Amino acid sequence: MKPANPILSEYGTTVFTVMSALAVEHGAINLGQGFPDEDGPEDVRRAAAAAVTDGPNQYPPMMGLPELRRAVAEHNGRFYGLDVDWQQEVMVTSGATEALAACFLGLLEPGDEVVLIEPLYDSYLPMVRRAGAVPRLVRMEPPDWALPREALAAAFSARTKLVVVNSPHNPAGKVFDADELAFIAELVLAHDAVAVCDEVYEHLVFDGGAHVPLMTLPGMRGRCLRIGSAGKTFSMTGWKVGYVTAAPALLTAAAKAHQFLTFTTPPHLQTAVAYGLAKEDRYFGALAGAMQAKRDRLAAGLDSCGLDVLPSAGTYFLTVDFRPVGFNGDDVAFCRHITVEAGVTAVPVSAFYQDGDVDHFARFCVCKRDEVLDEAVARLARHFAGP
Ligand code: PMP
Ligand code: GLN
Repeated sequence: MKPANPILSEYGTTVFTVMSALAVEHGAINLGQGFPDEDGPEDVRRAAAAAVTDGPNQYPPMMGLPELRRAVAEHNGRFYGLDVDWQQEVMVTSGATEALAACFLGLLEPGDEVVLIEPLYDSYLPMVRRAGAVPRLVRMEPPDWALPREALAAAFSARTKLVVVNSPHNPAGKVFDADELAFIAELVLAHDAVAVCDEVYEHLVFDGGAHVPLMTLPGMRGRCLRIGSAGKTFSMTGWKVGYVTAAPALLTAAAKAHQFLTFTTPPHLQTAVAYGLAKEDRYFGALAGAMQAKRDRLAAGLDSCGLDVLPSAGTYFLTVDFRPVGFNGDDVAFCRHITVEAGVTAVPVSAFYQDGDVDHFARFCVCKRDEVLDEAVARLARHFAGP
């Protein structure tokens, strides 16, 4: 048989799947893959159930149900003051993952360059490469995750077509500040480039901070594809409903890929997400507040185990430096070790880098019930306290 595509076949199974399988195998508490252990709002789930029962259950429009596209446009206005034309500037996708793929496949040509900031979500690099583009990687590193401005500026060239900006950032828990966003915006403008903005954690910003879409900065309205995810905003990661907001020329390009990738997304979930996005401000504030309390709970617990907990300003995640507990091995070994020996699973941060020299940090997921977080901490504390 002739070989499969060489770019994709060189990748193993994603770290999230590998670690979740290991957690199941060893009966460990899974703080690896990022998903809440409680489903999101019941009224949103009921809206989906009613839409299944009442129908229709046929193909929705390729760009998404008008009611959801309107709701996404209104959400952009309500939270960020963006004036969005739902008919020309919003597309519904099957999760943010599909939205990212549609942006890459729709916009990139072989030889184009894409600036990517490590650590990075696992689908970026393979999909950018599969689209024929050349990745230009720059890296943020723990513990401070500073944006390497010189390296970032040097990574842009006349061939740069896209930069991918993930804020709030998985796994760093970093929320890009106004100054960093302005710096990126300047580079985008100077190089006639476009930004793919992965903002799936837009409603998970802590400590009174506000999420600022790059799209709201001067000159950026027509140069950003802003991606959101109902999975994160409604704590139902299995729903895989995403949405892209972009100026018509950019959105049309992404839609050309979307129509051949998934074409559409289950209609009942779209109906329910439209209902959910119209929820009162209180819902969105409470989501961040509850997650912040979980971050604090897990951070205090991990700290009490002797782990060095890095700050997290948003997302589902906390990163720790595990050297203080004296573990003798890299992050992959550490995550395997605590799964097997302590009964708690985390994800190695090196999985978010192309080259694994950032090798002594582990990412823990905070979006679990308090008693689950407490039990995970108790297990780790027992384990690291020794016999
Ligand atoms: N981007 C980032 C940074 C993520 O953490 C996730 C979470 N899975 C996604 C994209 C994908 O989101 P979705 O589940 O909506 O495809
Ligand atoms: N975004 C989730 C995480 O970072 C996982 C998504 C997935 O499993 N593909 O943990």
